Amino acid sequence: MDYQFREYSRGVESAGGLPVLVPVVEKAETVSATIGRVDGLILTGGPDICPRFYGEEPMVGIGDMDYPLDVMELEAARHAEKTDIPILGICRGIQTIAVAFGGSLFQDIPTQVGSSLDHRQKADKTINTHRVNITNSSKLFHVVGREILWVNSKHHQAVRTPPPGFIVTAKASDGIIEGIEKPDSPFLLGVQWHPEGTWTHDDASMKLFAALVAAAKKRGKAREVHKGRSS
Ligand code: MN
Repeated sequence: MDYQFREYSRGVESAGGLPVLVPVVEKAETVSATIGRVDGLILTGGPDICPRFYGEEPMVGIGDMDYPLDVMELEAARHAEKTDIPILGICRGIQTIAVAFGGSLFQDIPTQVGSSLDHRQKADKTINTHRVNITNSSKLFHVVGREILWVNSKHHQAVRTPPPGFIVTAKASDGIIEGIEKPDSPFLLGVQWHPEGTWTHDDASMKLFAALVAAAKKRGKAREVHKGRSS
């Protein structure tokens, strides 16, 4: 786990941002107060989200879950969205976004979809193994600048139904959703792959971190202006 978070933190750092980690606490108001002090939020990879949060019971094929982590991250996502804090969801993070705003997930792709693509690549996370097709009118396309992108893949779950108000921005060749975003939010997007595993050598991955940090800086400036006016 530490290894993963280091990669995210260094991605943010390399893009000129100041990374801080949000702890798993119990009270919703502690989470919202913490999120109120940052200008951007990355929802990271991690275990499966408890299917209760999208109205389902666990099916055969589901993996490890961490209920308190779900509670914290869902609250963080909703508070960030409400206050226009830019959000980048990565792997589990795109699923957190989907569940936080009323979408649903496939609990296990091989069981429920039986697709032909291996979304749990045997190769290291630093290697991009499958393609995604990116909608060319999306913010994601604007960020990475490509309609066809090679990505890594370390997931067995995926977004089944995007939340209301969201659009699908990327799909794998088997139809699995690999990107969603909310067009009327300043910056609210998720990707099913792991740019934190590839940003050191893959420019499309670095651009995702750079776009989040740029959106966060913009929001930080707007907040300062607002503060100046109200004091
Ligand atoms: Mn995939």
